[in-house]
Amino acid sequence: MRSAVRLIVDVRQHVDEIARFQSHVVCGPSSSDCDIWAAAIGADGYGRFYLTREGMGLCVRPHRYALALARGVIEAGVLGLHQCDLPVCVKVAAEHVVAGSQGDNMERMARMRRGGGRYPVRRFDSRGVRRERSVALREAVRNGWDAAAVEAALLGNQPTLW
Ligand SMILES: [Zn+2]
Repeated sequence: MRSAVRLIVDVRQHVDEIARFQSHVVCGPSSSDCDIWAAAIGADGYGRFYLTREGMGLCVRPHRYALALARGVIEAGVLGLHQCDLPVCVKVAAEHVVAGSQGDNMERMARMRRGGGRYPVRRFDSRGVRRERSVALREAVRNGWDAAAVEAALLGNQPTLW
């Protein structure tokens, strides 16, 4: 997926698209909570938001779209980085989604491995585990923010379904 293309989000031109984006986001009750993307999630655990621009279908990561919405534009190569370590978070804030380079991302990941993260990080995290957590979070907010279910999803100890 080409997730780092230049993306413009214009509050006048893209009214319907922005409304559709926002309809997929469930905001946490407190200002420190994440805002969770509650729609399509890819195999990598990141959300997927589908747009049509100039007659062309385009798939973007929702947290990067959120940055473009907040800033008006996000340049090619600029990534959305999760300070909160939740791939499905789309809250643009210093403790959540910030813009950065690939170098910033590597530095952030090294910091997380040293125990700087907010949530428990599995040493040998795999895409499967990350996607599982993203899907669990989506389910936890499907009918509005369920604090207990969100907590369980974050800790990865939701009951096994037989
Ligand atoms: Zn967050």
